[in-house]
Amino acid sequence: MNVLVINCGSSSLKFQLINSDSEEVLAKGLCERIGIDGSLTYQPAGGEKVKSGKAMPTHTEAIQFVIEALTDPQTGVVKSLDEIGAVGHRVVHGGEKFASSVVITEEVKKAVEECNDLAPLHNPANLIGVNACEKLMPNTPMVAVFDTAFHQTMPEKAYMYGLPYAYYEKYKVRRYGFHGTSHSFVSRRTAELADVPYNATKTIVCHLGNGASVCAVKDGESVDTSMGLTPLEGLVMGTRSGDIDPAILEFIAKKEGLDIAGLMKMLNKESGVYGLSDGVSSDFRDLGTAAEEGKKPAQTALDVFAYRVAKYVGSYVAAMNGVDNIAFTAGIGENDGAMRASICGYLQFLGIQIDEKANATRGEEIMISTPDSKVKVFVVPTNEELAIARETVALL
Ligand code: AMP
Repeated sequence: MNVLVINCGSSSLKFQLINSDSEEVLAKGLCERIGIDGSLTYQPAGGEKVKSGKAMPTHTEAIQFVIEALTDPQTGVVKSLDEIGAVGHRVVHGGEKFASSVVITEEVKKAVEECNDLAPLHNPANLIGVNACEKLMPNTPMVAVFDTAFHQTMPEKAYMYGLPYAYYEKYKVRRYGFHGTSHSFVSRRTAELADVPYNATKTIVCHLGNGASVCAVKDGESVDTSMGLTPLEGLVMGTRSGDIDPAILEFIAKKEGLDIAGLMKMLNKESGVYGLSDGVSSDFRDLGTAAEEGKKPAQTALDVFAYRVAKYVGSYVAAMNGVDNIAFTAGIGENDGAMRASICGYLQFLGIQIDEKANATRGEEIMISTPDSKVKVFVVPTNEELAIARETVALL
């Protein structure tokens, strides 16, 4: 079956058409600046990437262009819409309602909408994508795959904040975690690579991209993860602060005259390694170059990032009373060997030994620990689109 995987943001829409039997990507692309002017980037497998300006007042036009590109007689990869058997939608927040993927119905859409408060930037956009697809493909089954669902196995002690209980009861303020599709995909693949049963092994996944989170997966279940109610908690990220003393907010608000919106912008867009490096970059390649050139704040940003990841890994060893495997994934985790080495440097107490030659490879699935390392360490490229396609087919 061909599955169209959609990741819909407020003004952008990423898509991949995946053949679920061969797991081959038939075509992929991106609609950008929806509601502004609009452009479509489209690339069929083995073909050239083509970008074209298209008027996209709403997501419905964007999806219409995607369908036209996929069925185009010259550059398309299917003859008609009939060859698209299902659509898998990435949905960011499923709250406590969704512990797994679901076939989309009117009730499901209502329940997703009820989680809008928890992800005001993402969930409404995800639903717009669902509605636009339903309009253009009314007979095609659709599945919602949630970023939060994998973490619904976290125990209460891991997901409760030290806040008044009433906020949990009234507003469901608790830790949810994100990147669940990636953590699930990577931890499962790690168990395969380590040749151990998924339901009897302890794995820590470090998803280190522009957004970054660590997850403790025990016997196939997420038992803790570093992101919380929102994706702001946890690691120091590209531009997000991660964990800070909450009292800093009042302090900075008074000093800088910031309101809540100003504070949130600072925490989400102006902090992380970007803020720490004094505005050098949120990209680790630029930070590495700047650090080599002797720019101290860039080196500090890299040091803080590595140290924070290592501390989370250490705490998850305690949470699981041990660890068998550690996996690195996403942009930094897959490509930045120096960062991986620096993080693993803190973990030698676990008997971890890194094979320098293996660790020098980039973007490949590989074991980077030595054969006598007490914990196996892997690089496992994540593939959230494939995970969504698999879930979609499994459900249907
Ligand atoms: P992601 O959010 O998973 O797409 O990751 C994006 C981030 O990965 C970028 O902001 C970079 O910081 C990082 N990245 C990508 N390629 C490399 C590389 N070759 N070396 C270091 N960092 C990289």
